[in-house]
Amino acid sequence: MQRKTSQRNAILDALRGAGRPMSAEDLTGLARTSVASLNRATVYRNLRLLIGAGRVRRLTHPELGPLYELADLDHHHHFHCRLCDRVFEIPGCALDVRIATPPGFRTDDHEVFLYGNCADCRG
Ligand SMILES: [Zn+2]
Ligand SMILES: [Zn+2]
Repeated sequence: MQRKTSQRNAILDALRGAGRPMSAEDLTGLARTSVASLNRATVYRNLRLLIGAGRVRRLTHPELGPLYELADLDHHHHFHCRLCDRVFEIPGCALDVRIATPPGFRTDDHEVFLYGNCADCRG
């Protein structure tokens, strides 16, 4: 049990330290620096538990696939840098859902990705 807890904490710490959503693969590499017993299978299993517990949120990027981020952030959007393939958090919501929703439709949720080059890559 102790070992599972520390695996879970390693994943949460890795997400917190990165400050941006990451794929399970990148997360495995990062979390393994603190808990060497982690592999892709244990990371997936722990991510499922963390999602179930409401600690982690899964978002689906159209090109990069599933990404994971901490669930304690308010609703926000994301920026994908096409050069370094990193995905960044954009705080807040610049979308007026009432205007964006077609007449007669009802929007439950939305995800917005901006694409371009990040400040590091542009510099
Ligand atoms: Zn970049
Ligand atoms: Zn939004």
